Amino acid sequence: MNNYFVDFFCRHTIKGFLDHQEGMALYQHALSVAAIGPCLEIGSYCGKSTVYLGQACQSTGNALFAVDHHRGSEEHQPGEEYHDSELFDASRNRMDSFQVFRDTLRSSQLEECVVPVVSTSALVLKHWRMPLGLVFIDGGHSPEMSLADCVGWSDRIVAGGKLCIHDIFESPSEGGQGPYLAMRAVLARGDYEFRELVGSLAVLQRHD
Ligand code: SAH
Ligand code: MG
Repeated sequence: MNNYFVDFFCRHTIKGFLDHQEGMALYQHALSVAAIGPCLEIGSYCGKSTVYLGQACQSTGNALFAVDHHRGSEEHQPGEEYHDSELFDASRNRMDSFQVFRDTLRSSQLEECVVPVVSTSALVLKHWRMPLGLVFIDGGHSPEMSLADCVGWSDRIVAGGKLCIHDIFESPSEGGQGPYLAMRAVLARGDYEFRELVGSLAVLQRHD
């Protein structure tokens, strides 16, 4: 990792839901797929995961597609547990993380390799044809949305490519089961192998 990146994290605090160890794992896995295809993430929020993935893509000449409607998940809405009033656009009465996300891309100098896609995951998935090297799933966390994202996007990854899923909790006492059940569903289909769990980040790899 270059010094600029280290300096960046010392100087900036990016709002988000990813710890440094998980971010570093994303960075390493994104480096490892540079020769096989672009990276894509579902759920960028203010860009924390985007900076780790994007820095790897930047250093290898790869691209990162960063998909988020930027209206927040259920838990980010006013009155909910993870609501952040700084991300609420009062004049439009809606959540909007897109401006902060763009500020993050600019301050991290990643505008040349990150392609923001402001849309729902379902719409992008429906029309997506490009084979991918890595997909990071961190969008809607309900069982239905997690399943649709993990199973749907797993089909768009090339052999040797990686599917990374955040917020994996084996027991309901640790957290919501949506992502965990979705990961199990992908593994049951047979073309992915479990590689590692870093914090709550699971990494699966597609067979050759
Ligand atoms: N990866 C981020 C955290 C993501 S939070 C980090 O590192 O901090 C979840 C994000 O998913 C929110 O920004 C929300 O707007 C987005 N999201 C939720 N459902 C979505 C959907 N169906 N399509 C696209 N984005 C979605
Ligand atoms: Mg998450």
